[in-house]
Amino acid sequence: MRPDLLNPLFAPIASLKGVGPALEKPLDRLGLTRVVDLLFHLPTGWTRRRSVTALTEAASGDLITVVVTPFEVAASRGRGPTRIYALDGAGNTLTLTFFGGAGRWARQQLPLGEAKRVSGRVESYRDELQMAHPDHIVAPEDPLADVEPIYALSEGLTSRRLAGLIETALERLPHTPEWIEPGLLAKKGWPSFGDALRSAHAEPESRLARERLGYDEVFANQLALTLIRAAVRTRRGRPLAGDGRLAGALKLPFALTNAQERANREIGDDLRQTQPMLRLLQGDVGSGKTLVAAMALLNAVEAGGQGALLAPTEILARQHLSSLEQLLRGLPVTVAALTGRDTGRAREGTLMGLADGSIDIVIGTHSLFQTAVQYRDLALVVIDEQHRFGVSERLLMAAKGAIQPHMLTMTATPIPRSLALTRFGEMDVSVLDERPPGRQPIDTRVISSERLEEVIAGLGRHLEGDRQAYWVCPLVEESAISDQAAAEERFRDLAKRFPHRVGLVHGRMAPPEKDAAMSAFTDGRTGVLVATTVIEVGVDVPNATLMVIEGADRFGLAQLHQLRGRVGRGEGKSVCLLLRSEALSDTGRKRLALLRETNDGFRIAEADLELRGAGEMLGTRQAGEARFRLAEPEGLAGALATATDDARLLIDRDGGLAGERGQAARLALYLFERDAAVRLLGSG
Ligand code: ADP
Ligand code: MG
Repeated sequence: MRPDLLNPLFAPIASLKGVGPALEKPLDRLGLTRVVDLLFHLPTGWTRRRSVTALTEAASGDLITVVVTPFEVAASRGRGPTRIYALDGAGNTLTLTFFGGAGRWARQQLPLGEAKRVSGRVESYRDELQMAHPDHIVAPEDPLADVEPIYALSEGLTSRRLAGLIETALERLPHTPEWIEPGLLAKKGWPSFGDALRSAHAEPESRLARERLGYDEVFANQLALTLIRAAVRTRRGRPLAGDGRLAGALKLPFALTNAQERANREIGDDLRQTQPMLRLLQGDVGSGKTLVAAMALLNAVEAGGQGALLAPTEILARQHLSSLEQLLRGLPVTVAALTGRDTGRAREGTLMGLADGSIDIVIGTHSLFQTAVQYRDLALVVIDEQHRFGVSERLLMAAKGAIQPHMLTMTATPIPRSLALTRFGEMDVSVLDERPPGRQPIDTRVISSERLEEVIAGLGRHLEGDRQAYWVCPLVEESAISDQAAAEERFRDLAKRFPHRVGLVHGRMAPPEKDAAMSAFTDGRTGVLVATTVIEVGVDVPNATLMVIEGADRFGLAQLHQLRGRVGRGEGKSVCLLLRSEALSDTGRKRLALLRETNDGFRIAEADLELRGAGEMLGTRQAGEARFRLAEPEGLAGALATATDDARLLIDRDGGLAGERGQAARLALYLFERDAAVRLLGSG
């Protein structure tokens, strides 16, 4: 349960004075739905106002504050503005203009003959200065702040409005005990959490405050991972010592890469321990993770246990099943699939086989950890493309074994070293940093979407050569707010050009249709697969050597790299065409250029981090895990290392969450919504 102290912060934003339905919408568009969201919506910059006594000190375009006395009003005529003429102390005229209904209000605010302090941007108008809709009109003796925060906005909001709301929200901030280790706090000279938050919203020079808030968030994240790690490690697992009789009997048409050999060894060593394995296998697309997973699963079976392979999508689960069946042909190993689609008697049979141990290896989706599924002796869980699963799902899966099963998670998303700890801080890591030999780099080109016709003609020639292609579209249906080509429309389009040669697969199709489309493509009956990002991970069709990605600039770099990894899997030369919109920002151009230059997933990930910032990169891909909102990319690596050490110290040595600082740290977990781990582990 969330500590009561924090409840006011998690109340809906509408509970704040001044937030009605009209404001709720634009706030919601910014993702601000609760009081705490407002508090964490930090300024992106600052407005500076300059105080002048005479208007002659100001130039067109300046943001100034000046005391003036109105002397004449020109009422609005038709659609024209209301003009109020005023004099500064030196006799210069300022024209204040107000459009629409604001005219009446302005006349009340600026009575003739009464001096007022006004602030806003001035523009030259004929030979006088004009100020349209001043930001502030106050009495001359009232001071005006010379800096104001600028916030990310949506239509219907202004920075001033947001600043006002945030001020109200800050009043709800409870006093929180300190969770940062005292030595660190002193060394850094950081303010308390509450002071840091207030200062971040009020002062442009709030470096220390921002630094602290970022650290708080990172610390909460690392603490959650540390708790998971501690919980898993203290459970007793069971040593698995396979004798190699199954793995040794595999007939592989190729030799393992050195990286695969190394990963096998590291995993084998882990499996022999009583302490359950918690390992991440990280390898770029096509580096051969599946085979490493298969060897580990065989090891578990040799040792008399069962293995489960969890895949993020139905398509991938089916594909893993067929490649595993092929690999294990002739070996005394029983493999089955279990997904949401297996129903009735087939499902009953599989459930029974898992319960009585006659099924050795099961492959499936989320269905694998439903309560109805019982295993006789689940000894190893492999999770493919783990970034699609949250920490809580990993834990649910782990709870399936009578004793703690060993866990191997795999990801093809290369994570920059500086960020690896935030995602995988609880795990040991094996890296496949080597590709199987004989692969050719993918020839990547960036093309304007205006040249679509040429691309389609090229696709035609490609098909004539009996080769296959993917065509990726960002959206499933035509959408009014987006000019993106939709998969369904592109499918109809291409199907007209290449009758019977085009298939379609997207996330909202009925499962049997999806299967049919996939297997038609895998078997080579269709030549083009029009798809959304459902094909992003894992799909393996070596004869597909052309990848067209429409609206490439709308995808993240890492995602484009994943998509591109669907080609270049066979011996043939592969091409990836990135279709970009006509107007492309500088950053957009740089991002796509990087993909053209390199096939190295790690370099791409590092660059993506630099160009987009850590928050976004961590945010988009972390299903079930909260994203970073306060931590900034600069200094993140350092903060991570410190926070990881500190979290481990707190848990391993300083009494965990029970002690005084532990209780404070628990607040941080809830405040930054890293509390899933606490709840699942039963200590919250
Ligand atoms: P990923 O790491 O992206 O999951 P896969 O496991 O799907 O990669 O492997 C990609 C392809 O490489 C598969 O067709 C697989 O059979 C092949 N492969 C795996 N290991 C090797 C190897 N050592 N030598 C040659 N080909 C390999
Ligand atoms: Mg894979």
